[in-house]
Amino acid sequence: MPELPEVETVRRTLEHLVLGKRIDRVTILYEKIIQTDLLDFEKINGQVIHEIKRMGKHLIFMLDHDVLLIHLRMEGRFFYKKEHQEIKKHEHVIIHFSDHDILTYHDVRKFGTMHLIPKDKYLDEGPLKLLGPEPSSLTEDELYHKVHIRKTEIKAILLDQHVISGLGNIYVDETLFRAKIHPTRKGNELSLEEVTRILYAAREVLLKAISLGGTTIRTFEAMDGVHGRFQNELLVHTKEGEPCPVCGNLIIKMKVKGRGTYVCETCQI
Ligand SMILES: [Zn+2]
Repeated sequence: MPELPEVETVRRTLEHLVLGKRIDRVTILYEKIIQTDLLDFEKINGQVIHEIKRMGKHLIFMLDHDVLLIHLRMEGRFFYKKEHQEIKKHEHVIIHFSDHDILTYHDVRKFGTMHLIPKDKYLDEGPLKLLGPEPSSLTEDELYHKVHIRKTEIKAILLDQHVISGLGNIYVDETLFRAKIHPTRKGNELSLEEVTRILYAAREVLLKAISLGGTTIRTFEAMDGVHGRFQNELLVHTKEGEPCPVCGNLIIKMKVKGRGTYVCETCQI
């Protein structure tokens, strides 16, 4: 699943390709990806892409009057090509530009979503309404207060995008290993000092992953031909049965709230 660093890589790649382009029309081959609860999608026709932002794992295309909000979910990705090139299986949405280039949205699992929202409402209505801040814009005290009131496992708290956005399964495992905190510790039992370690580790992991273009595990590709290199930096995630790089004891795999979780039970307490 693309996580924050992969989505940031997609954002940067798209910025090079589509900024300043005018959208002529959009061909929708699979209706369920398009969410029409906020605005009729046809209103996108004729608008120019001025900027592409990101909040958590959401891509935000700033248009003339509206905002195109895209979430890639499990396997969404883009291909950029010429209008005359073949449309392949799983390319469900085709954005046609006035210069005859196209951007296609490819999604094998079809879980991705696209919303068109008026510019003045996109932070208050729709998917961004309840999104928590990213690690880089949270203070130690703020995260401590959010974590301290919860009696659930710290891993589940960090995966909750309403609490803190942008950390998915891979990066939570890597964050908790670096912070030396066991994923099943309860939020209300963690000290300010421990939460501070988690926050600093999360920032470090995400910055490093963004600088390396994210992580490629199994099917995910940031965009046509772009592969993340953060998988070479993983210390625990996917390392079951391998020695911990810090203490040498074997890394185990366990389930936390149904998610595959990798942990060194010597280092993480
Ligand atoms: Zn260890």
